[in-house]
Amino acid sequence: MNRTYYIAGNWKMHKTRSEAAELAKALVAQLKDGKHKYLVAPTFTSLETVAAIVKGTNIRLGAQNMAAEEQGAHTGEVSVLQLKDLGVQTVILGHSERRHVYKEDDALVNKKVKLALQHGLEVILCVGETLEEREAGKAEAVCETQTVKGLLGVAAGDLERVVIAYEPVWAIGTGKTATPEDADAIHAYIRKVAGKLYGEDAAQRIIIQYGGSVKADNAVQLMAKDNIDGALVGGAALKADSFVPIAKFS
Ligand code: PEP
Repeated sequence: MNRTYYIAGNWKMHKTRSEAAELAKALVAQLKDGKHKYLVAPTFTSLETVAAIVKGTNIRLGAQNMAAEEQGAHTGEVSVLQLKDLGVQTVILGHSERRHVYKEDDALVNKKVKLALQHGLEVILCVGETLEEREAGKAEAVCETQTVKGLLGVAAGDLERVVIAYEPVWAIGTGKTATPEDADAIHAYIRKVAGKLYGEDAAQRIIIQYGGSVKADNAVQLMAKDNIDGALVGGAALKADSFVPIAKFS
């Protein structure tokens, strides 16, 4: 099965609007002949600025999170309607920092997934185990639970707008990367879980990104694996010099 590689940059809580604009312009220029699917996810405050720069290019606009409710009395939250109004096409949900620092559980992540899909957005659903869970031999079980609970109630017809990102928590921002073999094994397992939920064909089509200290020098080995279909990049996404070589790997 030929799946399109999908390389996404999560800028987290970095960059002012002018810094975000500078990076977005550099990426537009340097990725215009890129062969893969691309996304940048700036902070909420830079979305409008970056939207104007990536509009009509081969770079999608993503948000890093979204409220579980459409609108209302939710101080400090950002709604799906507001994201769509800015031109956001994709939302990253269940990132490990949301799960572990801000205590979002599977039920909340699932509510957000369904709301985003209902409004036509593409979702990048992040799953991944902590170091403690990996050492206890629970990596597969944790990823299975987060995948199953994250997709609860998601119709088969909406699955083509779902991307899974396997991000082992111990590899995020730590400089430690899962070996391509270990990552591929979990990706294969997640694909099997998707197959149980949606059938083999749908499972073969689903894009599963790897995230966790992806750099230009490990991207090729990771992407060479059968079940690794792209990357969700944090630290290395903050500069064109480090993101472009990942985005243009071949
Ligand atoms: C991430 O934030 O999704 C991530 C994978 O970060 P890093 O590449 O810095 O490990």
